[in-house]
Amino acid sequence: MENLQGQCLCGRTIITVSQITRDVTVCHCSMCRKQAAGPMFYTDRVPDNQIHFNQKETVGVYPSSKEIERGFCNQCGTFLFFRNTKQQMTSMNPELFDEQISALNFEKEIYYDDKPDYYVFANKTIKRP
Ligand SMILES: [Zn+2]
Ligand SMILES: [Zn+2]
Repeated sequence: MENLQGQCLCGRTIITVSQITRDVTVCHCSMCRKQAAGPMFYTDRVPDNQIHFNQKETVGVYPSSKEIERGFCNQCGTFLFFRNTKQQMTSMNPELFDEQISALNFEKEIYYDDKPDYYVFANKTIKRP
């Protein structure tokens, strides 16, 4: 998929990405579940220099662990991205991209061993501990 444009819930934060695959990963780790109120969905990773914001004022960044930043809209709270600062690679919230959402492929689940028992996805996915 090429030239994607997405936005947060309030619409103040607009993100553009030049290119991305259709693959989506779910993370079941406790930090993602805390932030997302459940498992967190991510786009495939993209080099940081392919991602642009309309402005930086509404982009909040929380350094959740060494070399990891979690971005959110500081106006509406929408989760925006998960960034590895050392690798300079970013995964985004796939729900930002309304026009592409139906084309996405739920490919894999990570930190599957950390998943609590109260939910399970029916999708056929690659499952990694
Ligand atoms: Zn917003
Ligand atoms: Zn996680």
